[in-house]
Amino acid sequence: MMRVGLTGGIGSGKSTVGRLLAERGAVVIDSDRLARDVVAPGTPGLSSVVQRFGSEVITLTGELDRRAMAERVFGDAAARADLEAIIHPLVRARAAELEVAAGPGALVVHDIPLLVETGQAERFDVVIVVDVPCDVQLDRLTRLRGMSPEEAKARIGAQASRTERLAAADIVVDNSGSLEELSAVVDSMWEQLSQAPGR
Ligand code: ADP
Repeated sequence: MMRVGLTGGIGSGKSTVGRLLAERGAVVIDSDRLARDVVAPGTPGLSSVVQRFGSEVITLTGELDRRAMAERVFGDAAARADLEAIIHPLVRARAAELEVAAGPGALVVHDIPLLVETGQAERFDVVIVVDVPCDVQLDRLTRLRGMSPEEAKARIGAQASRTERLAAADIVVDNSGSLEELSAVVDSMWEQLSQAPGR
C-alpha cells in the first residue's frame, strides 16, 4: 500500500485532483467528510460533543449546529482544543479502518485541507501539494464558489502560507492552467506513483 497525503490552499483545486486520482483508481479518503460523519446524529462523537458543550450546539433535528459550534470555539483556544481532541482521534480511527478496507495493493490518498497546519506530513509516504498563485485562488473562490473578496482573503489568510505548504511537498501539482492541463499532470503523476517501489 502507498499512503499519499493530498493538500493545498482553499480553492487551489485539491478536491479536483482528488477526484481525478479516484477516477484513475486511487482510494480517496476525504478528511472533511469524515469529520462530519463522526459527529452525525446518533454517534458516540456527537454524544461527546454534547457532554462537553451542552445541547446549545445541537439543532432541533438533533444534528450538530456547525454555526453555533464555530461561534462557541471562535477565539476560545481551550474550547477549540477540546473539540479537536474529540474529533481528530475519531477521524484518524475511521481513516485507518478505510485504509485497511482498501487492501494491501491500494494507492490510498488522504485529502486533508490542513495537513501542513496540523503537522501531519510525516505520516505519509508522499505528500502532494496542489499549488496556485494567490490571485488564482482568489479568482476561483469569488467566481466559482460565490465568496466575497473579503471572505476569500480572510480564509486564505487563516491557512498556512504558500511557502510553508510547498516546504512540506514531495510532489507539487501546479494548477494555474486549464482543467485539461491538470488532467494531463495527474496522468503523469499517476504513472509515477503506480510505479513507485514498494507497491
Ligand atoms: P479546493 O478543494 O482546493 O478548495 P476545488 O477542487 O474545489 O478546490 O476547486 C475550486 C474551484 O476551482 C472549483 O469550482 C473547481 O471546479 C475549479 N477548478 C479547479 N481547478 C481548475 C482549473 N485548472 N481551471 C479552472 N477551474 C478549476
